Amino acid sequence: MIYVFPTETVYGIGASVWDKEAIKRIFKIKGRPADNPLIVHISRIEHLEEIAWEVPEVAWKLIERYWPGPLTLVLKKHPALPYEVTGGRDTVAVRMPAHPVALLLIEKEGPIAAPSANLSGRPSITTYEHAVEELGDKVDVILKGKTTQGIESTVISLVGRPRLLRPGPITYEELKELLPELVVAKSKEAEAPGMKYPHYQPTHKLYLLTRPDGDFPEVKGAIWRKDIPLPRKLEKVFYYQNERELAQNLYYWIRELDKIGDMVVLGVPEKGLGFSIMNRLKKAAHAILQ
Ligand code: AMP
Ligand code: MG
Repeated sequence: MIYVFPTETVYGIGASVWDKEAIKRIFKIKGRPADNPLIVHISRIEHLEEIAWEVPEVAWKLIERYWPGPLTLVLKKHPALPYEVTGGRDTVAVRMPAHPVALLLIEKEGPIAAPSANLSGRPSITTYEHAVEELGDKVDVILKGKTTQGIESTVISLVGRPRLLRPGPITYEELKELLPELVVAKSKEAEAPGMKYPHYQPTHKLYLLTRPDGDFPEVKGAIWRKDIPLPRKLEKVFYYQNERELAQNLYYWIRELDKIGDMVVLGVPEKGLGFSIMNRLKKAAHAILQ
């Protein structure tokens, strides 16, 4: 059985880690390359023993502080865990989501392997309405619930030297306090398989503007900072007051603007949550305008 379900980050499309056929169907539905592994979602610490192998001391420190929550840990894979889940790797990404609907589902089904619920390469999904638009004719069950963070989990690898593979709601700066040896992985690193594929892209062009006074081509819509005047009148504009609000609504706004045409997004400084948001926007962008 395949479920589309809300988490506190974005909507996921998942199935039991033991149901290899369903896992293969998830890759097919999304059009996801088979070597791009899924995140295993658990609801209790005992699940970790079925999924991971030789969990290091440093993992427990992070688990205690951040689970349930938007932190994914890459660990050595349990020998019994199907390779379909890990894209053929000997490592596995795992997290415990902080969302009552996701946790209920996992309590019923056991550990669930789930990537984001968007079709491969497209922006993630953060509302029930968009989940139905994207997957309504492809899956049997879409569960309803509110996402709060709005961007995908922070991913760190703890196999070898701790490395940040994907920035997310829990910031690099914050993690570095608990884990001073943490470094940002190079995007070329083969160990961050998701990074080599197109990501988060709308159908229309998204222009990422890095300066509020910069010029941009003709567009229909914008995502813009509330206290900065927008230089032109556009058909539809979504305003954010701060980074938190931008992260929470980012994918909803991009998908809504994509319904009318090209868009411009005014970026944010690349620190804290802003670093995670810009990581998504740079990949979503048709062009980055300085
Ligand atoms: P998604 O759920 O669509 O955001 O995709 C899951 C993310 O976790 C992708 O960026 C994957 O590359 C990453 N991931 C999952 N498993 C592993 C793993 N074993 N090693 C490194 N990255 C992983
Ligand atoms: Mg994804």
